[in-house]
Amino acid sequence: MSQSNPNIVVVGSSNTDMVVKTPRIPVKGETILGREFIMVPGGKGANQAVAASRLGAQVTFIARVGNDIFGDSSLSNFIANRINTRYIQRDPETPSGVALIFVDEHGENVIVVAPGSNAKLSPDDVQQAEAIIRTAAVILLQLEIPIATVEYTVSLAQSYNVPVILNPAPATTLSPNLLHEITYLTPNETEASILSGIKVNDTSTAETAGKKLIELGVETVIVTLGAAGALVVTAETTKLIPAPKVTAVDTTAAGDAFNGGLAVALATGKSLLEAVQFANYVGALSVTKMGAQPSMPTYDDVMRFMANSNT
Ligand code: ADP
Repeated sequence: MSQSNPNIVVVGSSNTDMVVKTPRIPVKGETILGREFIMVPGGKGANQAVAASRLGAQVTFIARVGNDIFGDSSLSNFIANRINTRYIQRDPETPSGVALIFVDEHGENVIVVAPGSNAKLSPDDVQQAEAIIRTAAVILLQLEIPIATVEYTVSLAQSYNVPVILNPAPATTLSPNLLHEITYLTPNETEASILSGIKVNDTSTAETAGKKLIELGVETVIVTLGAAGALVVTAETTKLIPAPKVTAVDTTAAGDAFNGGLAVALATGKSLLEAVQFANYVGALSVTKMGAQPSMPTYDDVMRFMANSNT
């Protein structure tokens, strides 16, 4: 990339997704024969770490995997993606996180996630990485790890004036204390609805929800709106940044791509609106390809796409 590679710390989940294609979703008590089986690395933390690393950042991932074959393969995947694995703990007792996913012919799915060692990622694990957090350009978190660990990380980052991006996924409510310490909050429409108590289904309701979250103490709210792009809400202004038009093939992990892109753009010193525009391009590119991590673009992919686009 054009600027020196910034340091980004991602604190979050790592899963192995096990996907079985099936003619239909079985009913309770039923056994049916499925079709192909694929096993792919996933977890919002891991997806966002890979997204940021592909875009050229120096990424340290703080996570916890089991001492099992899934943990082995997750670590190999992080190393292949040039992620610093020094602060990834191996839990001696708890298995790695897995997601069991069934997808039918219409693309409908049912998913059960067993968080495993992700649920054991502790404030202590994060504290061990204090030296690298202190000097990071940006810290990026999601909500697939214990909330106490999220709260500890955010306070630690705050104490060193390191900006924090919290992608509040999966959707839940958050304490006022935590909201007060967030620099950038990046909910999608569902998450914005749950966090603000205001049903979000268009730009105008996204603005109302965003303003409410600003009143609750968040510095900047960026509501992602799928193909419509993202709405940036601060105390002073609201601005819709449209996403470029693409043919969507698989929208899995669009939010993860967006957040990885946002972290890299902010860390390289882009302005807020430029950073959201960059993140939109990363999110849009990711939906043009199948899969979560395989669809994450490189910095050159994004530059080429931006140069060929009119948005
Ligand atoms: P999530 O995946 O968390 O539900 P969104 O669906 O809002 O989040 O998508 C996140 C971002 O990915 C959007 O803000 C946009 O930048 C990009 N994106 C998602 N879907 C599309 C699409 N169909 N066309 C273009 N960009 C998209």
